[in-house]
Amino acid sequence: MPDTTCACPHCKCVLGVEAVMKDGKGYCCQGCAEHHAHGEPCVAPTGCECAKSAKG
Ligand SMILES: [Zn+2]
Ligand SMILES: [Zn+2]
Ligand SMILES: [Zn+2]
Repeated sequence: MPDTTCACPHCKCVLGVEAVMKDGKGYCCQGCAEHHAHGEPCVAPTGCECAKSAKG
């Protein structure tokens, strides 16, 4: 079993009930699952800035 953290490279969020499975990896939210391709923010309540890190 993979660990339960988001597969988004810059995201440290733990997968919860909103987790999205994509390509065999778990992402904490749809934004992460789409690699923030459209600038979707991370839904984590911790102020995670992985969306910013994904795109310069
Ligand atoms: Zn995140
Ligand atoms: Zn994430
Ligand atoms: Zn992310």
